[in-house]
Order: sequence, then C-alpha cells, then structure tokens
Amino acid sequence: MRTITTREQLLVNGKVRERVATHIVTGAHGYETLCTSGYNVSYNDKRGLIENCEKQEELPITCPTCYVVWHDVHKFNSGNFDTESGKGSFTEIDLTEISIGR
Ligand SMILES: [Zn+2]
Repeated sequence: MRTITTREQLLVNGKVRERVATHIVTGAHGYETLCTSGYNVSYNDKRGLIENCEKQEELPITCPTCYVVWHDVHKFNSGNFDTESGKGSFTEIDLTEISIGR
C-alpha cells in the first residue's frame, strides 16, 4: 500500500486556494496517484510552485477522486482479467483503408 500527500495551490478568481490531500499511489506506470493529480511538481507561468509532494505512506486517504476510482475498480478480481487466451494484448489486424468523400 502506498499513499502520497500533496499540497496543491490553485488561483481561482484572483484568490489562491490550497488543497492538501492524501492519494492512493499505483505503480502501474511508475509512481503515480490513482487520480490525475498527485506526485508531480509543477509550476505556473510565473515559476510559482503550484503542487508539491509533502509526505509519503500516510493514512487515511483523503482524496475524493482516489476514493471514487478505488470504489469502481476494487469490485474486479483477478478472474475478471484475460491473461491466458492472448486477447489481453493488442492484436494487429489488416483492415482495408476507407476513403471519406470524393
Ligand atoms: Zn487522489
């Protein structure tokens, strides 16, 4: 189980709003959160830090987006995945090119 706590700042109608949230981390593509934001340090056009990693491996998870993603995904189990027939990987098929319009 991996989590990460981030601090994010957003400029909304001239006011800086700050959000601190703990996210679920997945190793599927390295080290990223379930939601789209998370373990990224990013800067706005004035080079101000708008997102920053604070802590790691802290519970409870507080990110509502991570909760929704987890809730949808955890109902699947390993038997729901096709890992044996070969259909689980992309298959290249030759299709006839079609042209649109004349
Ligand atoms: Zn999240």
